[in-house]
Amino acid sequence: MGKNDFLTPKAIANRIKAKGLQKLRWYCQMCQKHCRDENGFKCHCMSESHQRQMQIFGENSNRIVDGNSEEFEQSFLDLMKRSHRFSRIAATVVYNEYINDRHHVLMNSTEWATLTEFVKHLGRTGKCKVEETPKGWFITYIDRDSETLSRRG
Ligand SMILES: [Zn+2]
Repeated sequence: MGKNDFLTPKAIANRIKAKGLQKLRWYCQMCQKHCRDENGFKCHCMSESHQRQMQIFGENSNRIVDGNSEEFEQSFLDLMKRSHRFSRIAATVVYNEYINDRHHVLMNSTEWATLTEFVKHLGRTGKCKVEETPKGWFITYIDRDSETLSRRG
């Protein structure tokens, strides 16, 4: 042990890590601003520029939720179309298949708090036929494509 330990790669890595953490501690992610210490951070949070940023973020987060909801619905319906096109199936079964895809959009990042709410939404918007049964919600995909085709033919 000596002062040369200060220069070992491990010691350097530890110092960088410690510094990084310290930096993160008083970092405002929204404004991407580093503050010196707790007091600086508090002052920053009360500043006009931070408040404005909060407002912009609030508006954006609605947009993000909208985008997530759209994507969630789209992938869910794609799955229905692909795997359960002609069947009446429990919503939870489709949902479990859906969340097996590791790239799935989390439902808690959408406007629907529960699967039931989402299923009701599908029924309301006419994307699926939905029925509440003692065994839970059942959904049937409404195949717009073949409907259009049969009307045409
Ligand atoms: Zn800020």
